[in-house]
Amino acid sequence: MTYKQFRRNTRQREVILRCLQATTCHPTASTLYDLVRKELPRMSLGTVYRNLELLAEIGLIQKLQFSGEANFDGTPDPHPHIHCEHCGRIDDLPIDCCPTIEFTQTSGYKVTGYRLVLSGICPECKAKESEQDNKESVLSEPTSPLNTQDI
Ligand SMILES: [Zn+2]
Ligand SMILES: [Zn+2]
Repeated sequence: MTYKQFRRNTRQREVILRCLQATTCHPTASTLYDLVRKELPRMSLGTVYRNLELLAEIGLIQKLQFSGEANFDGTPDPHPHIHCEHCGRIDDLPIDCCPTIEFTQTSGYKVTGYRLVLSGICPECKAKESEQDNKESVLSEPTSPLNTQDI
């Protein structure tokens, strides 16, 4: 690797990390790619993937795999999440219930990881669902027989 390439890679990694840390939406690689390209339009999706894997490996970010495509979290410390079953959106839970320190002291376990995920339906999906329900009940209402004369 030339010095120029090294510098470019470092800059790309910095931008990826900064964009990820600036958002709370736990993006997938392709969602983050859209954000990163606003700053570095020539970056490829492959570069974003590679750097995210690397950043997760060295513990600067977290890779979350709840279903299908992996999501990335700019906060490296373990914390609880909630995952929307419909759209895959992930949010942080505003609670601090990581019991590892006390548990380590009392149980004799050495805790090496932490994962707490609630599953649910996010506010947007919930709103869409009730909209759908309303439409369906409108459609299923008996309609006036407009075209009976044509038959
Ligand atoms: Zn949702
Ligand atoms: Zn998170």
